[in-house]
Amino acid sequence: MKHHDEWHLDRIKEECGVVGFYVPGEEVARLAFFGLFALQHRGQESAGIAASDGGKVRMFKDMGLVSKIFTEQILDGLPGHVAVGHTRYSTSGGSEQRNAQPIFCVTVVGEMAVAHNGNLTNSAELHAELRAVGQKFETDADSELIAVLLMKYMELGIDEAVRRTMAKIEGAYSVAVCMEDRLIGFRDPFGVRPLSLGRIGEGWMLASESCAFDPVAARFERDLMPGEVVVVDSTGLRSFLTDGSTRGNMCLFEFIYFARPDSVMYGTSLYQARFRMGSALWAEHPVEADLVVPVPDSGIPAAIGFAQASGIPFGEGMMKSRYIHRTFIQPDQRMRELGVRMKLSPLRQNIAGKRIVLVDDSIVRGTTTDQIVRMMRENGAKEVHVRITAPPIEHPCYYGIDMASREQLIAANKTIEEIREHLGADSLGYLSVDGAMDAVGIGERRFCNACFTGNYPIQVSSTFDRDGIAKGVVGEMATVRSGQGLLEVE
Ligand code: SF4
Repeated sequence: MKHHDEWHLDRIKEECGVVGFYVPGEEVARLAFFGLFALQHRGQESAGIAASDGGKVRMFKDMGLVSKIFTEQILDGLPGHVAVGHTRYSTSGGSEQRNAQPIFCVTVVGEMAVAHNGNLTNSAELHAELRAVGQKFETDADSELIAVLLMKYMELGIDEAVRRTMAKIEGAYSVAVCMEDRLIGFRDPFGVRPLSLGRIGEGWMLASESCAFDPVAARFERDLMPGEVVVVDSTGLRSFLTDGSTRGNMCLFEFIYFARPDSVMYGTSLYQARFRMGSALWAEHPVEADLVVPVPDSGIPAAIGFAQASGIPFGEGMMKSRYIHRTFIQPDQRMRELGVRMKLSPLRQNIAGKRIVLVDDSIVRGTTTDQIVRMMRENGAKEVHVRITAPPIEHPCYYGIDMASREQLIAANKTIEEIREHLGADSLGYLSVDGAMDAVGIGERRFCNACFTGNYPIQVSSTFDRDGIAKGVVGEMATVRSGQGLLEVE
């Protein structure tokens, strides 16, 4: 299901969320459901869970929200103590059911289901290479490529299969694999996408974000290291590092916007990081004003930080409809033209007659920020000063984030002054890249910040065009020996 309203088009799309469980004696599909529910913000197009009882991997996946897809009956049909789950927004492959994850396949050592968050930068080359030796693909998703490589190398043993797969694939990936009798997790050598490890009872849990641990009473242990592989089976957990960067290049945007504020990454609370970004915004772009207003919900921690640092009162200037994303009814054309009014309603009494500082996390195309500024003015704001915690986004992301083409990125095509004019704001201030990184509180600079700076930590294959779209990936449909042990929707 794609949302085509203006709000959705003008947001950077979260990528995917993954969870993994190995808990002896527990039925973990239900835990995977609640883990995915906590990661729903990372992808709302499809979701799936694969679980194993030690002898058979069963899977269910469908389009839509986690809460819509799974029922008691479906979860009862996924018995076992090993599971992986996935919630998806399409970053490679189209928005279609066949691209939903996990990807199921049968290897020489048994059945397997693969869930992946990220984007491979050499998928076109790998598809071509594998097709040349007769490999068929059912989908155009990177996760199938990873599954095929794991399957191909599995006769060398599980550790070696993961090592060889990681040596072949390039790009950003955090992967959880459910095998009949074990759980595997691995993270790319640059650590671009997050993956956390937690303890749950006598077992272990993996999740894209630590916010997935609380609802299932798991305890956060640590982030997986860049290039780390963990394997959990009846003997416990073991881990090894593959070759690669030890520095880590975690996506700076996770800290600014994608991840939930109650998650912890690099040992830092995302809420606190965003709060400090707000303080830094005040330091970099002070302004005289009467009220600091967040664009809900993502602008709230930074707006509180801005308000505390500046001494300007914090106040709400608009309400966000909490349930709009739960509707399956698409707005008609007339409603789409209403734009942000479908999502945000002004609190006129709070803003009338005031000089407003409007704090938001990012400006992508600029087509919703200008509507929000207009809404503030129409409801009596005397001045509107826009402050943004993401530095100007001038470059596309090749690592699993959908942020519109370069032509659509307003900061790639206009100066700050031209953007201010476009927004109809009295002033505009973006946080600097250094300001954003310092706010996270990591002494050593260990980020990917390529969409702001153009410094890409992982080489991008020549088969990507400059807007980050992999060319020639979609190919013939065939089989990956899937189907067995599969509990599929009609
Ligand atoms: S390019 Fe930007 S969005 Fe993509 S991984 Fe790097 S920081 Fe994150």
